[in-house]
Amino acid sequence: MRSAPLSLNCAATWYKANDIQLENSSDIELENMSNSGSTVPSDKILARLQKAFGEDRAQLVDGERFRVLNEEYRIIAFPQNIDELSEVLKLAAADNLSLIPAGAGTWLDMGNHARACDLIVSTAKMSRVLEYEPADLTATVEAGCTLATFNRKAAEDKQFIPIDPFGDDRSTIGGTIATGSYGPIRCAYGTPRDWLIGLRIVHADGQITSAGGKVVKNVAGYDLCKLYTGSFGTLGIIAEMSFKLRALPSDDSSLIFYADTARPLCDLIGRIHDSDLSPSAMELISYGSMDLPMDPSGFALAIRFLSETETALWQQAEAIRLGRMGSDLNHKLMNAQESDEFWRRYRESEISGDWETCLRISSLPAALPDTLAVIDNLLSRVHTRAHAANGAVRVLSQAIDSEVILELRNYIQQRGGSLVLIRASDDLKRRVEVWGDAGPSVSIMRQIKDRFDPQGRLNPGRFIAGI
Ligand SMILES: Cc1cc2nc3c(=O)[nH]c(=O)nc-3n(C[C@H](O)[C@H](O)[C@H](O)COP(=O)(O)OP(=O)(O)OC[C@H]3O[C@@H](n4cnc5c(N)ncnc54)[C@H](O)[C@@H]3O)c2cc1C
Repeated sequence: MRSAPLSLNCAATWYKANDIQLENSSDIELENMSNSGSTVPSDKILARLQKAFGEDRAQLVDGERFRVLNEEYRIIAFPQNIDELSEVLKLAAADNLSLIPAGAGTWLDMGNHARACDLIVSTAKMSRVLEYEPADLTATVEAGCTLATFNRKAAEDKQFIPIDPFGDDRSTIGGTIATGSYGPIRCAYGTPRDWLIGLRIVHADGQITSAGGKVVKNVAGYDLCKLYTGSFGTLGIIAEMSFKLRALPSDDSSLIFYADTARPLCDLIGRIHDSDLSPSAMELISYGSMDLPMDPSGFALAIRFLSETETALWQQAEAIRLGRMGSDLNHKLMNAQESDEFWRRYRESEISGDWETCLRISSLPAALPDTLAVIDNLLSRVHTRAHAANGAVRVLSQAIDSEVILELRNYIQQRGGSLVLIRASDDLKRRVEVWGDAGPSVSIMRQIKDRFDPQGRLNPGRFIAGI
């Protein structure tokens, strides 16, 4: 039985994460796990879950999967529906267990180190499409359903949930809503908050509550769906979600413009903003961050048009005309298949593991040229990807000096923006706070957290300001 060392290992990594030196992890008494929430040994947790729900519902898995702390092994519960999820959380509450909610577990390293983790609760086996009404353009899915699976099904009826988060086909819809994740087509379709109309959530004590509903016009009073979206699993575990859908556009095409420097492309973005064009995605990408058909020394502006064919043809022609103004930029046109393939590769390359460090900088779209210039000035050998519609810049790199990140954060924050560590080594996370300064909203966030999870057992310490 390997679970006894697991609990010791868990304690050891918690101490390590908190800079407490241990000579030998086997010296640790379980009672010392004061911040782990529970003193129940891991083998007992596993046995209780398996007895209550069956052997397949709780497993001891290799720490490489669902990595939160650096344990070799970890226990994961895989409830199969909302009622089982509620029972798992009641059992965990009775033992005062600290929980990490998860979907597919692809992005669990985002955020601060967890203060404790007795159990991961994954929705990966809650993956059914519960209702789908093409005529109403609405659907209800379980949290573990992947976006790729649902959108493949909805494509048969020429519909989709218009969200394209960074990552690959494994991302669950629950994980996407919990993180408020969006991708390039935010430019035209907004964020997950705009498409979620209702959800059911299980709270830390196992209680099930609902917000919103299954029809489009039903929001009365405070819209809790918006509160849960992007709360990173700190308020409850999302079990089911209802969405409004969009009709799938009949045409998909993209244009890539090239230039040696970012400046002429930023100018083109400005001309596009001032025009009647409505691109679905518009990303400014520096060379080397992915395999691009472009000049190896410069930048590319990739623009996507998801629309009806006639509109798409007009938009392409207009964008090319605007590209000729000023610097007469070179361009390449991609057909539907090339376009789809390009954007899929773009989103997947973000999570390729080629980058040790990923920063997300949010500032005003008008500040984009200045933000890029400052990054270029402070950081060498990094790649940048900018979401031209909202000015968010992602910096991909190997190790970056913590002092330089702090200087960059200072510059950005002074101008009302923010810098978040999307991916970073343990060492960098110790030197640079992951989320940055959240400002006065922190005290409200703490009060909400205290109301929803008074014992602080859900994702302890991982969110903004250690919430
Ligand atoms: C390397 C990498 C980089 C990424 N970068 C970005 C980015 O910059 N911007 C962006 O918007 N998205 C980003 N994503 C997020 C990704 O696009 C997914 O949408 C999603 O967050 C991962 O899905 P998952 O099922 O694997 O979630 P997981 O990795 O399992 O969970 C992600 C987070 O959501 C919580 N969570 C998961 N499911 C639930 C649930 N049902 N209820 C409550 N909480 C839950 C977890 O506790 C965790 O904090 C990135 C993903 C990866 C792998």
